[in-house]
Amino acid sequence: MTSSTSRKDSYSRAAFAEARSVIPGGVNSPVRAFSSVGLSPVFIAGGQGSHVFDIDGNEFIDYIGSWGPLILGHAHPEVVEAVGKAAAQGTSFGLPTEIETKMARLIIESVPSIDMVRMVNSGTEASMSALRLARGYTKRHKIVKFQGGYHGHADALLIKSGSGVATLGLPDSPGIPESVAANTITVPYNSIASIRHVFEQCGEQIAAVIVEPVAGNMGVVPPLPGFLQGLREITAQYGSLLIFDEVMTGFRVGYQGAQGLYGIKPDLTCFGKVIGGGLPVGAYGGKHEIMQQIAPAGPVYQAGTLSGNPLAMTAGYTTLQLLGQPGIYDKLERKAARLAEGFIRNAKMTGIPLKINRVGSMLSAFFTEHDVVDYETAQRSNMRLFKQYYAVMLDRGILTAPTPYEVMFVSAAHSDEDIEATIKAHFEALKAIKE
Ligand code: PMP
Repeated sequence: MTSSTSRKDSYSRAAFAEARSVIPGGVNSPVRAFSSVGLSPVFIAGGQGSHVFDIDGNEFIDYIGSWGPLILGHAHPEVVEAVGKAAAQGTSFGLPTEIETKMARLIIESVPSIDMVRMVNSGTEASMSALRLARGYTKRHKIVKFQGGYHGHADALLIKSGSGVATLGLPDSPGIPESVAANTITVPYNSIASIRHVFEQCGEQIAAVIVEPVAGNMGVVPPLPGFLQGLREITAQYGSLLIFDEVMTGFRVGYQGAQGLYGIKPDLTCFGKVIGGGLPVGAYGGKHEIMQQIAPAGPVYQAGTLSGNPLAMTAGYTTLQLLGQPGIYDKLERKAARLAEGFIRNAKMTGIPLKINRVGSMLSAFFTEHDVVDYETAQRSNMRLFKQYYAVMLDRGILTAPTPYEVMFVSAAHSDEDIEATIKAHFEALKAIKE
């Protein structure tokens, strides 16, 4: 379908109508509704490698990659085989299994800031639990997050959020008590001056600063030089914890995540996405002394019926082992760089304003001529142009996130032909834009 514009959608539309009668908005997570681009969502039948197939029989080159986990592509044969074997042994026990220890050891050996790790079931749970731990450990209540940062939908963190909240243009969510919101301080991303100001006001009350070390929920926004280092210094000075939310960047921008890339050691780290290999997983880990506060070792409570689930652990462990093979991140870098260069060339040739932000295989194209360094500048991206561009890309068989506030994920399964076809479709999409 990549060269034609003959996308059929009658089955997807019917499926969406039916879903809406039984599921709020027809979806189990808001951005899947495609509402921000004014389209009906594609309903997926399956995926293989870099491609997905919808229930109308269309085939797409997929850059959503389940919003990050599928760094090896869809239905990777080794992952599928390992999960199948694990399933045959039983899907869940709620009792300890050895694969959990293997998984913990693999994460600890890969990421130097982590001495111990606890598995949970989603990124939301990971950041929510890390926050409770930080508060329990420091005996302080306030936290600092960044505007346009998304750390899942726990009450305390759903303030000035990115991701779907930004996409839908929602104010902070109803249902969050003021007393909870009052303890969350938000500041602009990449602004060390703002952070310093906040700490001067109430640094002794701040339990933690939580940050996406490469922001990925207002589109990709890399940290400016000195930003992460500045956070490390200020939090240490005031006895607050620094939490890196690496749910998106962990094992994605490199085997040691963003902390390896930028050489910063946080106190706690949250994981999700890639470490689950496409099954529901999250994890949080960090310094021994802090992690020992978690029940039953310590008094900070956190639990989960399905935590450390054998299928999820197997998918994640197999994925991380495959990612450990030499050269894989170089390949991801090369492919993503080629894609970015193609987009920049297309923008020049068509005269459409476009800013590309990229860190490794995470990429965003903002319709603006200004640099995008925080949520405010990300919001300058022209939504009208994005919508026009998006519809053409989809019709040409290129599936990307239906919002500029999410990331384009390149996977190891994307071939050079996929990349070339995407650049070609991108050129046609830019040409079709009417200002
Ligand atoms: N933190 C970050 C940085 C994320 O990108 C996400 C999800 N996009 C989350 C937390 C929440 O993860 P989950 O959707 O698995 O709850």
